[in-house]
Amino acid sequence: MQVSERLQQLKPSATIAMTEKARELKTQGKDIISLSIGEPDFETPDFIKEAAIQAIHDNYNHYTPVPGFADLRETICEKFKRDNGIDYTPNQIVVSTGAKNTIYNIIQSLVNPGDEVIIPAPYWVSYADITELAGGVPVVLKAGIEDDYKVSAEKLKAAIGPKTKAVLYSSPCNPSGSVLSKEDLAAWVEVLKEHPNVTIISDEIYEHIHYADKPVSIASFPEVYNQTVTVNGLAKGFAMTGWRIGFMGGPEWIAKACGKLQGQVTSGTNAIAQRAAITALKADPKDMKYMLDAFAKRRDLVIGLASNIPLFKVNQPKGAFYLFPDVSACFGKSFKGKTINDSNDLAMYLLEEAGVATVSGAAFGAENCLRISYATGEDQLKEAVFKHFKKLASGFDPLFKVNQPKGAFYLFPDVSACFGKNFKGKTINDADDLAMYLLEEAGIATVSGGAFGAENCLRISYATGEDQLKEAFRRITEALA
Ligand code: PMP
Repeated sequence: MQVSERLQQLKPSATIAMTEKARELKTQGKDIISLSIGEPDFETPDFIKEAAIQAIHDNYNHYTPVPGFADLRETICEKFKRDNGIDYTPNQIVVSTGAKNTIYNIIQSLVNPGDEVIIPAPYWVSYADITELAGGVPVVLKAGIEDDYKVSAEKLKAAIGPKTKAVLYSSPCNPSGSVLSKEDLAAWVEVLKEHPNVTIISDEIYEHIHYADKPVSIASFPEVYNQTVTVNGLAKGFAMTGWRIGFMGGPEWIAKACGKLQGQVTSGTNAIAQRAAITALKADPKDMKYMLDAFAKRRDLVIGLASNIPLFKVNQPKGAFYLFPDVSACFGKSFKGKTINDSNDLAMYLLEEAGVATVSGAAFGAENCLRISYATGEDQLKEAVFKHFKKLASGFDPLFKVNQPKGAFYLFPDVSACFGKNFKGKTINDADDLAMYLLEEAGIATVSGGAFGAENCLRISYATGEDQLKEAFRRITEALA
């Protein structure tokens, strides 16, 4: 007996697979930090929880209308108007069991076998698989870090052909964190309005998580309103991943089709979560700003720390909660006897060697990259980036041998590999020489291990500000280059 061919061809979700592998290692007692999952570490705000508790008391126990409660769909229309400048009526809205379910419904409703779906890469991990499950053909358009991971209108234009059924993308983007600006979208609109039979599926689930201008919805351009489906949900912006509420607004014929499919598969989504969603969506988005502020701080922290890893090429993501470095400089290199040929190898090496779970960019159509989620707590992040730094640094920079201190606030690397070497005309014979050289050349004060009976070492205090620390490491790296 065998599962269907359809299912045999379906790949398991790479993000979920990595998280499960990390969980398995944790159960075996390994010290694992998970930076692989796209889930805020905040709890759902209390006022939303209260609404759900009230809904239970109010006996919301029954089946719900397939496309969602009428008053929730009204509220979603108000939300689209208020936050996105888009006019929808309730019959254009369908509420589903998470945005993943919403996207699945849309693709199943639109795509015939052989139809092409244009997917700008890096793309969210499930887009290609959901397309293939419908018999569609993903047409992946690549953008690299040099493009800020954004596909140009020219590339989009060149990819559209007679079989193109849809364009599917997220902005802010998971995994790259890139946000398509109003100008970027205006250029896309110029191309897409010439192809009114191509449906634009705009996944805006990260809309509230942005660090520069507020993201723009492509449906707010009147030229493409009739051919656009806007996807959103409560998981990311409201810390409600487990509540499973996603929704779409779009042409009525697509909403009807999604409702028809949903009526045969899942029915209307959870009654209590829908009642809570009304309260969440009526709230001022500013009430959720404390989460954004925390993500912004973490983003700056990880950009800074990851930039210290010379083999990582890092850009400045403008939204979501992911850093997406280009790690291709690691490929072909060997660390601790393990050769890293691609980003899958690197993710596995970092999990097994450093105890840090990330996700290979290959799962997102970006083979040169690695996704690091910073939706996790700050302390965990510092620890994880430290581990990345340590493992990689000890692999490619043999001059500092670093261990992981468990207490106090000192790093105490063995620097004996520097001894006998010459830097900028100065010979370093011992740790005293190195400490003096770093003070004079790099302007940073450390203490020779000789003072502590450890002649091979250097004491670096990290009881200092983060910024100073970063600068110190930059100078050390430069001085020893
Ligand atoms: N779209 C994107 C871009 C996502 O990152 C995710 C969740 N990781 C989803 C959709 C699915 O969201 P939900 O949890 O509401 O199904």
